[in-house]
Amino acid sequence: MESVDFLKDDAFIFVLSLFIRYTSMIVTIDPDSGFCFGVNHAIHLADDELRAGKTVFCLGEMVHNEAQMDLLKSKGLKVVSHSELNTLKGSTVFFRAHGEPPITFQTAKDFDINIIDGTCPIVTKLQQKINDSFRSGKDSNAQVVIFGKPGHAEVAGLNGNAGNTAIIVSKESDLTKIDFTKPVRLFSQTTMDAEMYQSIAALVQKNMIEATNSDLIITKSVCRQVSGRISGLRVFAGENDVVIFVGGNNSANGAYLFGICKQINPKSYYISNLGDIDPQWFVNHETVGVSGATSTPGWLIEQVASYIETFVINP
Ligand code: SF4
Repeated sequence: MESVDFLKDDAFIFVLSLFIRYTSMIVTIDPDSGFCFGVNHAIHLADDELRAGKTVFCLGEMVHNEAQMDLLKSKGLKVVSHSELNTLKGSTVFFRAHGEPPITFQTAKDFDINIIDGTCPIVTKLQQKINDSFRSGKDSNAQVVIFGKPGHAEVAGLNGNAGNTAIIVSKESDLTKIDFTKPVRLFSQTTMDAEMYQSIAALVQKNMIEATNSDLIITKSVCRQVSGRISGLRVFAGENDVVIFVGGNNSANGAYLFGICKQINPKSYYISNLGDIDPQWFVNHETVGVSGATSTPGWLIEQVASYIETFVINP
């Protein structure tokens, strides 16, 4: 009997300790999180077609978020690759917020494909600027330089607007690809680290001065929907004991914004679904902040916050 009572006491103490450890915890959602307007616009466009019962083929993952993609696929969205375009004659194909190079529009036209263009208006504007620089700089051998992730869909679209001649740089050591004696037109992929772009631009400028060449135009093209979140995110990460950052595994802006959280608060954790959450992260902490990438849907962020409140803090 004694041992049973002991076990009962032990279990009681364990439950009580959980209660004490979690009970006063507050979970807050970052008010700036959720889809950026470009992704929101694209999702709504696709959703309108899917609701009308049409089959929509999307050229690549519409958004770098697995949970949102699963939802869209359940509504009938089918993801296809560029190499499959020639098999989709007469179909409806969706172009994502990242945008596409001119060759994709031409292929779609050749195969009589009905395009739903979900390109973010900010990306379209950037593509046009790159195209203008490329055309107007031909006579002077101007080099279009793009600070971006090689292989990223947006970069492919931007480079396509420079006749696929752009020099893609993602780090300082890539600057050796640039001929600083020739004119340079510098741009950034919209979702890159704004501070890193500033230092890359400063280095390009320094090299141009050394080469006695002043023909440099720097375009500030990091999207404000990303860069505008940085100061608020720093405050948010500093205000909470633990930060849960929700993002897709391939989200460039997710990795970037999470890095900001981690710099400010080492107890920041990147998750892509509820299964990634470890209850130990919250032990002996009082405040939890939940934030996410510009490609993370608001509903998923709310689901994560509510899961932490319901099953982790008050199991
Ligand atoms: S991050 Fe900016 S540029 Fe990219 S889709 Fe969103 S609003 Fe558009």
